[in-house]
Amino acid sequence: METAKRQKKQGKIFVISGPSGSGKTTLLNKLIQDREINKLLIKSRSLTTRPRRWQERDGQDYFFVSRDEFRRLLKAKKILEWTRYLGYYYGTPRELVEARIIKGGHIGFCLDLKGAAILKKIYPKNTVTVFVLPPSLETLKARIEGRSKSIDKEEVAQRLALARRELSAASDFDYCILNNNLQVALKELKEIVLTHVGS
Ligand code: 5GP
Repeated sequence: METAKRQKKQGKIFVISGPSGSGKTTLLNKLIQDREINKLLIKSRSLTTRPRRWQERDGQDYFFVSRDEFRRLLKAKKILEWTRYLGYYYGTPRELVEARIIKGGHIGFCLDLKGAAILKKIYPKNTVTVFVLPPSLETLKARIEGRSKSIDKEEVAQRLALARRELSAASDFDYCILNNNLQVALKELKEIVLTHVGS
């Protein structure tokens, strides 16, 4: 009862998930740029041991760290939740989330399915989960291939195989958005956020 009361006053957590190439990161980045949303929501930045892609900036898209550093932070309990995705580690910095939501601020995340499930478990009343569906597997493949100049065939195949498995989890989410048209999907996501931050 006490926990439920405390969670009610806290900020909301929006977790956007979906297969690699579904467009979830673009959607969240665009949403944050929206003037109305910008005042309400910040984007969480994860730690990762994956190499930086050419268009990514350290401290903006991710905090790029070594495996040793990741392990050290994990041991020091500085990571709220983490996952291993295609051999690399990804984790949510604990302080960033706790400091924000305790003050009633809202925060958006792009996480894999495991991350979405864990945040929902830790903060059941605050967390809203959204699954982004790609229009087709062909589109997904083209997006994954187009994303990085250095991506090899094996990684594309691994990401696609994982995407097929991830798609079956869509029904576990609070909302599903079909990302066929970016503007339409963005409008839907914005409506979801405004519905929940207003309540
Ligand atoms: P990518 O390498 O494509 O940037 O990310 C791979 C996957 O890891 C994506 O599904 C992304 O949403 C997820 N991810 C990124 N950061 C985190 C995190 O901190 N925790 C969890 N659980 N997943 C993450």
